[in-house]
Amino acid sequence: MTRIAVLGLEHETNTFLPGRTTFEDFLAPGGWPRLSRGEEVFGALKGSGVAAAGAITAAAGRDGVELVPILWTIALPGATVAEDAFARLTAEITGRLAAAHAEAPLDAVFAEMHGAMVTEENDHAEEALALAIRRVIGPDVPLAVALDLHGNISDGFVDAVTLIEAYRTYPHVDMRETGARAMRRLLALLDGGPAPAKAVARPPFQIALTWQCTLFGPGREAVDEAEAMMDADPALSVATFFGFPLADIPGAGPTLVAQHPDPDAARTAAARLDALWLALEPRFDGPLPDAAEAVAAAMRTAAGPGHGPVVIADTQDNPGGGGPGDTTGLLAALLAADAPALLVHIADAAAATAAHEAGVGAVIDVPLGGRTLQGTGAPIDGPWTVLSLGDGSFVGEGPMYGGNAIALGPVACLARGNVRVIVAPKRMQASEPALPKHLGQDPFAAEILVVKSSVHFRGAYQDAAREVIVARAPGPVTADLADLPARRQLRRAAGRAPVPDAAPAATTPTP
Ligand SMILES: [Zn+2]
Repeated sequence: MTRIAVLGLEHETNTFLPGRTTFEDFLAPGGWPRLSRGEEVFGALKGSGVAAAGAITAAAGRDGVELVPILWTIALPGATVAEDAFARLTAEITGRLAAAHAEAPLDAVFAEMHGAMVTEENDHAEEALALAIRRVIGPDVPLAVALDLHGNISDGFVDAVTLIEAYRTYPHVDMRETGARAMRRLLALLDGGPAPAKAVARPPFQIALTWQCTLFGPGREAVDEAEAMMDADPALSVATFFGFPLADIPGAGPTLVAQHPDPDAARTAAARLDALWLALEPRFDGPLPDAAEAVAAAMRTAAGPGHGPVVIADTQDNPGGGGPGDTTGLLAALLAADAPALLVHIADAAAATAAHEAGVGAVIDVPLGGRTLQGTGAPIDGPWTVLSLGDGSFVGEGPMYGGNAIALGPVACLARGNVRVIVAPKRMQASEPALPKHLGQDPFAAEILVVKSSVHFRGAYQDAAREVIVARAPGPVTADLADLPARRQLRRAAGRAPVPDAAPAATTPTP
């Protein structure tokens, strides 16, 4: 029997945010499966789109393969992870791995990680986790990892693991397939296939989330080229990381990992991709309208011909980049213009509670949003009419959260004039049409749909949208990296001059 341990520990860390991500944040994050241990993992991930679910499915039908579930957890993107939280989760994972390995030797480990987790003591927490796993299983047991396209990947991590797969889409609509791919490669290796050599290239710039989309433009060209190279040489695997720029660590930025049984072929592929990324660099940048400009433009378009919502993305309050989900710049602009809009959503537990206490049809006078971060818009006073209420429990139907059982707690749709705004106690990526539908609001019928998201919303709404406008309202998910108060990052913002005094980043692919 071939025994493969399956585990997951994920966080995308925005080190520019105040506070800490704690152990409790890993228990039941909005939109994602809750923390699960041992046999619970199978049930918790069943039907989910996460990478480990894909890996489990890919191995399930194989004769002679026994999956050993260890632990799976994720916290929403947020502030630096408290060291005690990371230590506790790592200790639990390695303890369970060691027990499983003692019971009967493990033949391999599959691990789902993010790639951009930063703790108080580890710039690259995934490297620390991989090394901790290695201390249990030793140097020779294969360790396959499936990661997020936003990983900030260290050389030590690449060295510690056996094979690497990364999402190839942003919006991430291939999480499950990424896990399945990693598992298929792992099974081929266990069947006697060759282990890959790995070569790494690091383009010397960073890309704001807004410009990382793989549906069009330079992001699309980057992943298409990697795909074409893999089609031409099936022995090649490329993990493309666009990086997560909101981490003030030296390694933050794109990393291209070419994997091939022939080290020379891996190096050649990494060098070719590095050259492509350098050529694409100027196009990973551009101007964005502010909130008032975006609302005015959306109202002009909405009043014209065509159908489908005009979608405004509030990119700088993207919960997927650590945004609190309660900034009010766009809400203020919508109210000022009395725009015919639906905003999804403001995370505000007090407002949601007040709406539930008052009931449908009531007018409540609570300040909305603006509670978390200074300088991101003040709370907006009532009155608000309660249009609809829900218990916040629904099943995801979008391409990212589809199949996930989502429990946000009591949610409400409030309105003033033509502006409707959904409020919920928790934050969550605005890529899930099931939330507004749960409240009787059809997001596809809205004239203007405002989403707190940088790119993930495109998975659900791009095809239906009449136009997409990415707006730059005040918020911490900085769309212009020149605005970042970075001290330790070594790479320039794409399309900009090099950072003065910064040490040059390595551009030469290293084996
Ligand atoms: Zn991501």
